[in-house]
Amino acid sequence: MIDISIIVPLYNEEAVFSQLINRLKSVIDKTEFTCEVILINDGSIDNTAQLVEEICLQDNRFTGILLSRNHGHQLAVSAGLANFRGKKGAMIIDGDLQDPPELVNDFYKLLMNGYDVIYAIRKNRKESFFKKTAYSAYYRLQKKISSFNIPIDSGDFSMLSRRVVDNMNAMPEQSRYLRGMRAWVGFKQIGYEYDRDERQAGETKYSWSKLFELAFNGIFNFSDFPVKFITRLGFITVVFSLIYFAYNLYRKFYFNDVPHGFTATILAIILFSGVQLISLGLIGEYVLRIYNQVRNRPLFIVDKIVRDGEQIANEGK
Ligand code: UDP
Ligand code: MG
Repeated sequence: MIDISIIVPLYNEEAVFSQLINRLKSVIDKTEFTCEVILINDGSIDNTAQLVEEICLQDNRFTGILLSRNHGHQLAVSAGLANFRGKKGAMIIDGDLQDPPELVNDFYKLLMNGYDVIYAIRKNRKESFFKKTAYSAYYRLQKKISSFNIPIDSGDFSMLSRRVVDNMNAMPEQSRYLRGMRAWVGFKQIGYEYDRDERQAGETKYSWSKLFELAFNGIFNFSDFPVKFITRLGFITVVFSLIYFAYNLYRKFYFNDVPHGFTATILAIILFSGVQLISLGLIGEYVLRIYNQVRNRPLFIVDKIVRDGEQIANEGK
């Protein structure tokens, strides 16, 4: 019987591998519940795959999932979430030991206290000033515009109950933004503040382009704002042009100090820009609806049902 699975995605992590395994072993040796570790090799081009196979053959608390090629961090974690055996739930950590695996004990306590999602909040980051500012601005923007509450400054480092993962696995969307999906599922969620460590060895595996893709998924998968913004901008422009028109009409009749031709030209430009923005926004609305439909998410997720004097908890699928 396994209680908790620790899910670790790995892409070219041979430099930290032995350190990672030692830390994980000393953690799972001591827990009061049983743990397995799921190592996902995300199509590494270094020696990571062999190292994963080796440890999994030696120690049956380690399971290896070897992907056919590099699928990216979010999909590597998704592969772990689709294939773990923990009865109570799963913890997701990075392979570079930026997320201390020791926290599994505190997270587990919260899980046993009835929380379904325990997400780690980074108190401080040990990254460059530019990266820190960009992250901070992004999370705040995302919170402002997303259609529901996605917590600030928390990444994928978290513990999820079995039913949360089952519900996430049932979401068929292709571009997966796990921290958004996790928040979308709902139930009782709690933040846990921690100091994010430095990467213990090797270089970051998140290129700027991967980072941008992640940020885009976060915005477009969980917010209607970009489309709504175009429509609103269109309406504002049209209203502004009408006010401008009225003002110029007034100047023309009472003061006759408006230069010939100028007003009409400017007016035509503003008015029709506004009309075009509205039209774009309207098309965007349709695309948005099509998008929401094909994404085919479940419409709602039930926590429990009380029927015939009995409480039936939603244990997932
Ligand atoms: N990772 C992965 N596939 C990728 C990129 C990264 O599985 O295509 C893993 C990586 O091995 C690490 C985790 O995702 O365990 C987080 O990556 P990284 O530490 O490089 O990101 P950063 O902390 O710099 O944002
Ligand atoms: Mg890292």
